[in-house]
Amino acid sequence: MEYQTILNYIAEAVRPSFGKGKVADYIPALAEVSPQKFGMTLQLVSGERFSIGDHNEPFSIQSISKLFVLQLVMSHLGEMVWTRVGKEPSGDRFNSLMKLEHEAGIPRNPFINAGAIATLDLLMSLKGNARHRIRNYLRYLSMDDSIDVNKTVMQSEIDHAHINRAMANLMKAHGNLNGDVEEIIETYCYQCALEMTCEDLAIAGLPLASAGYSSLHGDAILSKSQIKRINAVMLTCGMYDSVGSFAYRVGLPAKSGVGGGILAIVPGVMSIAVWAPELDAFGNSYVGTTALEMFTSMTHSSVF
Ligand code: GLU
Repeated sequence: MEYQTILNYIAEAVRPSFGKGKVADYIPALAEVSPQKFGMTLQLVSGERFSIGDHNEPFSIQSISKLFVLQLVMSHLGEMVWTRVGKEPSGDRFNSLMKLEHEAGIPRNPFINAGAIATLDLLMSLKGNARHRIRNYLRYLSMDDSIDVNKTVMQSEIDHAHINRAMANLMKAHGNLNGDVEEIIETYCYQCALEMTCEDLAIAGLPLASAGYSSLHGDAILSKSQIKRINAVMLTCGMYDSVGSFAYRVGLPAKSGVGGGILAIVPGVMSIAVWAPELDAFGNSYVGTTALEMFTSMTHSSVF
């Protein structure tokens, strides 16, 4: 398939979609990113890679970090993660507090903020520095040692993390958080403020597309069973409360972040990273979703 031609086409075809979404501004430092950015990378299981636009520009991965923290926790602690978080779509906003009170402090899934905070608490219960563990895992997966945190974004998040702090306190009160609330929140803000390029992300997603194996690393990074489960949680919970319409339009397991990035997986074929900062009402990249919809329609690569 002529993937480069398809990417060139999509980069032009999405232009009318700019201006329809809105760059996240509840984290002030994120509001400064240019809304016109657009990058996309396809990392094929075969090792081939195709890119377009601002694919080499680092952006704030935000909630996409939750996917990698889940991988680390599953690798170290296995299935016990599901005693602390569920695996059902939430049907609420990514930072909603509502169900948390009704459901005794057990978040619906590891990809809403509350679930990510509980998952991170598990990672922080392991020996060693959790921040370094997350950053080094991303560096290893992406084969890019320059991956690092944006300290301005991190501080901006810490200063405005009132709702996330409320969630953490609620979970702590229900006995579903072991560590210190402030330490967990600051580490959560750290993981969200890590920056990666589309190319980094697509390479980091490769094991999810190839049953855990990475042809670039020449190594099995995750087991087949872990891949089956992580992709399932991405498909059902990765796009917040628009996960149904994303499945309808795009039809791939994916994880988004309010920095405007989306990582999507075509099982057995490729990992796709797209970045465009303007968000729809649910907190997912408006242009990124449109680009992925075009891609799966043109290449018939939806999982359905
Ligand atoms: N740091 C963001 C927050 O906690 C992540 C949200 C997201 O990317 O969806 O609000």
